[in-house]
Amino acid sequence: MKHTFDCLVVGAGYAGAIVARELAEAGGKQVLVLERRNHVAGNAYDCFDEAGILIHQYGPHIFHTNDKQVYDWLSRFTKWRTYDHRVIANIPDGQGGRMTYPVPFNLTSLEVAFGQEEGQRLGQKLVQIYGAERKVTILELRQNQDPEIAALADYVYDHVFVQYTMKQWGQTPEEIDPNTTARVPVFLSRDDRYFQDTYQGMPLEGYTPMFEAILDHPNITVELGQEALNRLDVTGDVLKLDGEVWDGQVIYTGQVDELFAFQFGRLPYRTLDFAFETMPQDDVQGYGTVNYTMDKAYTRITEFKHLTGQVKPDVSTIVKEYSKAYTGAEDETPYYAIINESNNALYGQYKALAGCFPNLYLLGRLAEYKYYNMDAIAQRALALAAEILGKAR
Ligand code: FAD
Ligand code: UDP
Repeated sequence: MKHTFDCLVVGAGYAGAIVARELAEAGGKQVLVLERRNHVAGNAYDCFDEAGILIHQYGPHIFHTNDKQVYDWLSRFTKWRTYDHRVIANIPDGQGGRMTYPVPFNLTSLEVAFGQEEGQRLGQKLVQIYGAERKVTILELRQNQDPEIAALADYVYDHVFVQYTMKQWGQTPEEIDPNTTARVPVFLSRDDRYFQDTYQGMPLEGYTPMFEAILDHPNITVELGQEALNRLDVTGDVLKLDGEVWDGQVIYTGQVDELFAFQFGRLPYRTLDFAFETMPQDDVQGYGTVNYTMDKAYTRITEFKHLTGQVKPDVSTIVKEYSKAYTGAEDETPYYAIINESNNALYGQYKALAGCFPNLYLLGRLAEYKYYNMDAIAQRALALAAEILGKAR
């Protein structure tokens, strides 16, 4: 069979859609995108539920970046709703009730936890040691030998990190990659936003329309509901497509262990169960996200209307997230790579195998086995497209 396209992209999430657009537009390539789901946008996919609320089917997504190039690039395909994400921890208050304070744990959280006077004193001490507006990871804070700071670090560890991390990863903060808890540091500030990036917000009409616009180019063909592994063959010395040797570029954004039939064993992941609930009220929890850092089986509850700004006074939809080990079952999605030395080494075996095919490129959260935010994978996709086009010239 003679193919009419130059490049094959597997997956229509951030990685696949952006690389496809660049190859098609900047490179003038004919690009075929195969997506096994029946929709584009990967895990950022959003849609309206039965109550008419715009929800994120694969978990809440808030866009934030300091990367102007990425922001400008995406801004060609969407307008933005300005949205500063705020998260609170909801914990038992020790007297039969519950209390809340901002996460990341900050100077305001300190005063709620320890009372205004004591909280202020401790806050001043922290600022003296680390500096104002500084972000200090919980693991760094726990290194401090000063008895008062050590006690404070223990408090934050016990009330914010240890149970949440156990629920999310099945491991303690010491056992997981330190970069993971470093995403939510103790913040010596009154700024109670979850992110401090220059650009943050939500695509005004949602993520899915943004992806449709990215993929809307005469040189791009998107086929949904198409399993690429039914057509790609990497079992021999050369890459084959539909049974014939293929020397066009293949940009693969799915799981690399699956691409190579799990021949070295499965790469471990965490998956999530999402429980969506629609309530007959305007505002269920007052915040975009509430983290349950000490109890409950779920990690957090997100209420979508806060993120999207949708106005629908009599109804609201929330989602609870339950984390568990990924087993590879058909109905599970591998959401989070479990980054550690042995898993990275296993990934390295697959990467080396992929390296035997000069026209095969691994890109994305799954294919690279990384904890990329949306902006980071967008940046990677732009860089890879430039690299491929640079080589082609
Ligand atoms: P994906 O979005 O997973 O896309 C890969 C696509 O490839 C999928 O659509 C898949 O179906 C398809 N595919 C795989 N294998 C095949 C195959 N063999 N054949 C055909 N198609 C295939 N980032 C943020 O910046 N902010 C957030 O608030 C945020 N929240 C998140 C919340 C959760 C619960 C999770 C799990 C992630 C969150 N992220 C967030 C990260 C964000 O989801 C990723 O950065 C982004 O989705 C990565 O894009 P990707 O293209 O690499 O992967
Ligand atoms: N974390 C925590 N308590 C919190 C928030 C985060 O222990 O209230 C830890 C936990 O280990 C989590 C990590 O910090 O997995 C990163 O949190 P983030 O909100 O960035 O996770 P994501 O949104 O990517 O799931």
